Amino acid sequence: MEKLAIHGGIPVRETKLYYGHQYIDDADIQAVVDVLKSDYLTCGPKITELEKRLCELTGAKYAVAVSNGTAALHIACMAAGVDKGDEVITTPITFAASANCALYCGAKPVFADINEKTYNIDPKDVEAKVTEKTKAVVAVDFTGQAVELDALTALCKEKNLVLIEDGAHSIGTKYKGKGIGSIADMTTFSFHPVKTVTGGEGGAVLTNSEEYYQKLLLYRSHGITKNETEYQHVSDGPWYHEQIDYGFNYRITDIQAALIISQLDKLERFTKRRKEIVDRYNEAFSEIPELTVQEEIPESDTTRHLYILRIKPDLLTIDRRAFFEAMGAENICCNVHYIPVYRHPYYENAGYPKGLCPKAEKLYDEMVTLPLYYAMSDTDVEDVITAVKKIVAACRK
Ligand SMILES: *Cc1c(COP(=O)(O)O)cnc(C)c1O
Repeated sequence: MEKLAIHGGIPVRETKLYYGHQYIDDADIQAVVDVLKSDYLTCGPKITELEKRLCELTGAKYAVAVSNGTAALHIACMAAGVDKGDEVITTPITFAASANCALYCGAKPVFADINEKTYNIDPKDVEAKVTEKTKAVVAVDFTGQAVELDALTALCKEKNLVLIEDGAHSIGTKYKGKGIGSIADMTTFSFHPVKTVTGGEGGAVLTNSEEYYQKLLLYRSHGITKNETEYQHVSDGPWYHEQIDYGFNYRITDIQAALIISQLDKLERFTKRRKEIVDRYNEAFSEIPELTVQEEIPESDTTRHLYILRIKPDLLTIDRRAFFEAMGAENICCNVHYIPVYRHPYYENAGYPKGLCPKAEKLYDEMVTLPLYYAMSDTDVEDVITAVKKIVAACRK
């Protein structure tokens, strides 16, 4: 048996492999430079162009580009009418923003447990958590795999809830052939550099509802309108505009929008390469009894953002932490997505108890995120597999 690097053996590779990395080419750089040389750095034509592209890509009727994915979630909750005293149901296996958006509106995040095989929110547990106060569901396409949209849509319709899909991981994914972004009442995207498509920062809300669309436009920009048909007073002249609602500056720049558009030109390539890597990982890991591979629902044609490997600690002499550290010593940098949101001290101090979602907590104890990004070479991928196999072989019970 080979000696693990963490015990002084030779690492699988000499240089560090990171878990995620953006891919920027000359076309991206040129797109940004072109905007810098133009008249508009913000509120310009690139933003409209990006919104059009997102509608074409997903099949949604409307898109509102904003400064980041968190802002997108916030204004989606506002448009849904989430308010003080309301409850919003989400998953604990997500980035904190999926729950924080309820807090921004004075509402209470409520956590429904996950499906232990797909790691996405379990519609049955969502149903069990619905109360008279529930206003919306924020369903996260974790790792890029679509949530069970048919079940969630039916449930939300029956209970009169707004379905907000947090698609921060799932740009490019399709559910039963329809683009993510065109199905839920509202869908949000993030263009943070770790996501599949980046603008440095950036986000968007997609919807088929004209009513939500008009609200989202107002909330993005101070509640101010320049549309005469919305005025409550008589216009004073050509400079006139009115603040008719409450809102923020959640605008995105044309610089970012141009970068995102250029990145979207490569989305098909990104998807293809990510799928290849996922297939290779799945092939290698599914035959190792000490490991569990994430299951996919057949409805989801997934552009995968994250690759989650789950270990079976009962069959190994090491736990997740030791596995993670052993991978690091082999020069494969992993990550963990996510600490269940309600296990953060802020939520704990607000009264959320440990044990609230046992399946989510068990997953958290057993998972690592392996490197997955477009620019990974075949050698990089094989290095990851070699390192995983080496550690499992050395730590079998
Ligand atoms: C990244 C992410 C967000 C937040 O997006 P930002 O653009 O970083 O604000 C929200 N939800 C999920 C699931 C994410 O991964």
